Amino acid sequence: MNFVISYGMKKIQMVDLKGQYAGIKDVVNESIQEVLETTAFVNGPKVHQFQKNLETYLGVKHVIPCANGTDALQIAMMGLGLKPGDEVITADFTFAATVEVIALLNLTPVLVDVDAETFNIDIDAVKKAITPKTKAIVPVHLFGQCANMEALMAIAEEHNLYIIEDNAQGIGAKYKYSDGKKAMSGTIGHVASTSFFPSKNLGCYGDGGAIFTNDDDLAHTIRGIVNHGMYKRYHHDVVGVNSRLDSIQAAVLDAKLPNLDTYNNARREAARKYTAAFVNHPKIITPKTVNGCEGICDTCDCHVFHQYTLKIVGSDRDALVQHLNEQGIPCGVYYPIPLHKQKAYIDTRYKEEDFTVTNQLVKEVISLPMHTELDDEQIAFITKTVIDFIDNN
Ligand SMILES: *Cc1c(COP(=O)(O)O)cnc(C)c1O
Repeated sequence: MNFVISYGMKKIQMVDLKGQYAGIKDVVNESIQEVLETTAFVNGPKVHQFQKNLETYLGVKHVIPCANGTDALQIAMMGLGLKPGDEVITADFTFAATVEVIALLNLTPVLVDVDAETFNIDIDAVKKAITPKTKAIVPVHLFGQCANMEALMAIAEEHNLYIIEDNAQGIGAKYKYSDGKKAMSGTIGHVASTSFFPSKNLGCYGDGGAIFTNDDDLAHTIRGIVNHGMYKRYHHDVVGVNSRLDSIQAAVLDAKLPNLDTYNNARREAARKYTAAFVNHPKIITPKTVNGCEGICDTCDCHVFHQYTLKIVGSDRDALVQHLNEQGIPCGVYYPIPLHKQKAYIDTRYKEEDFTVTNQLVKEVISLPMHTELDDEQIAFITKTVIDFIDNN
C-alpha cells in the first residue's frame, strides 16, 4: 500500500533547490542586495571576496572564477599551452563537456575506459593510451568521488604530462593518499576546473565556474585568458576569451560556501540511508567508496555524492526508470551513451573491446534523487519502490 506511505509526503525532486533556498533565503538575499547597491556587476568586490574565501576553504593558492565549468576546462587547457595535435586522455564515461573542449581546441581526445566499481578513469587503460603525443590527462571526479590521483600523478611525472582535474562534480571531496594524508579534490593536479551550475554541490543561481591551481605563473596566464588576454588594460598579449563570473552569482556562492560541508554531509547521510536499504540485494549494486573507507563509514569525508548511482543487474533498468517516474520519483541515467559512440566524437581509432566497462555501465546505472533536503519518509518511499519493483519483475 504505497498510498499510505506517500500520503502527505513532500514531493520528491531530483534536486531540491527551492527547499535549500528556503533555509538560506535571508543571507542569500542580503548578499545579492549588496551587489545591487554597489552596481559592480562584473568583477566586483563580491567576486574577489568569494575567490579569497574559496581559496581558503580549498587550501589552494589560486582560484580564478569564470563563466561556467566548460569554460574552466577550456581555459585550463589554453593556460597550459596545449597545441593542436596534442593528445589528451580522458574518460569515456563522463559528461560531454570534458571531451568537447578538447575537440574545440583542436587537441586530440583519447577516450579510455573506466573502473567498474568507482566509475572513474581506469589507470591501466590510461597507461595503455599514452603515446609520444600525449600531453595531458583529464580525470573526472565522477559523481563526487576522486579518481585515483596518486597513480595518475605518478604517471604524469614519469611521462611529463599535465593532470587537469575535472572537479565539476567533486567540490568539497577529499582524496586520501595511501599514507593517510588527505587533500581537497581539485588541489592535487597541475590545474583543476569546477562548475557552479545550480544543481552542482556548490551551485549558484545561473552559470558559473572556476579554475584552481597552486602554480603562480599558470594562474597569472589564466587570469589574462579569462579576460580577453589582457594583463594590462587594452593590451592583448594572448588570445583570450570573455569568461567572467557575475558578481550576483559570486554573491550567491559566497553566501552558500559556509554551508558546503553541511550540504555534503547531508548528501552523505542520504547516501548511507539508501545504501543501508539496498546493501544486500542481489540485483542492486550500491556505490563503492574508496579512499581507504570500507563502505560508507560515519566519518568518511571522501565522497560528496553529486549523484547516488546504483547498478541494476539481472533486472530491467529501463523498466525501473519508467516505473519510478510513474510513481513520482524522478531519477536519471548518467550517462546513457558512451562518449566514444556519440556522433560528434566517433573515431576509427576506438575499438569496442577497449570499452567493455563503459558499454556495460550505460545499461546498468541509475541515479536516484540526491540533494540536501531529502527526508527519511522520501528515502523510505524511494527505496521501497525500487526494491518492490525489482523483486516483482
Ligand atoms: C557540469 C559538468 C561540466 C560542465 O559545467 P558547466 O558549468 O555546465 O559548463 C563539466 N564536467 C562535468 C563532469 C560536469 O558534471
